[in-house]
This record gives sequence, structure tokens and C-alpha cells, in this order.
Amino acid sequence: MSAPKAIVHEFETADFMPSVAAVGPGYDCDMCNQHFDGEPAGSGLFVWTRGEELRFEEPPLCETCAQNVTLDALTRWGVEEEEEG
Ligand SMILES: [Zn+2]
Repeated sequence: MSAPKAIVHEFETADFMPSVAAVGPGYDCDMCNQHFDGEPAGSGLFVWTRGEELRFEEPPLCETCAQNVTLDALTRWGVEEEEEG
């Protein structure tokens, strides 16, 4: 006579947990708030002064916004040069 088999329920609790890793490393675009994975395609560099305080800020940007910011910056510089000249 064999011993009664124990009924064992094994739960792999990991399967029931929401996978935090599913979100993955990534950033929320500072311009359009769209989440994207991986490194920022570029970051707009904001520099401004408050009195004697010089502040830098590099918000993460998605590829689209990074291009827009770059083009916008180039356009502004061009306009400023024309006005100064
Ligand atoms: Zn964006």
C-alpha cells in the first residue's frame, strides 16, 4: 500500500505579480509627455539665469521633439543673427 500522495499546490507568485520590468527603462518626453524606451534621442538644453544663478536643465526628449527643438533653436539663432546684423 502506497502512501497517500500529498496534494501540493505550487504557486509561482511571480506570475501573479504585475511585471514592473514591463515598463522598462525609459523616459517621458518633456515636450509631448509620450513615454519612450531607451535613451533619449536628444535633450533640449535649457539655460537660464536668475540673478547670478546659472541653471542648466536637460529634459529628456523623444526623437521627434528632439529634432523639433534642434530645428527651432537653429531657426532662432538665425533670426537673432539677422536682427543683430
Ligand atoms: Zn516628444
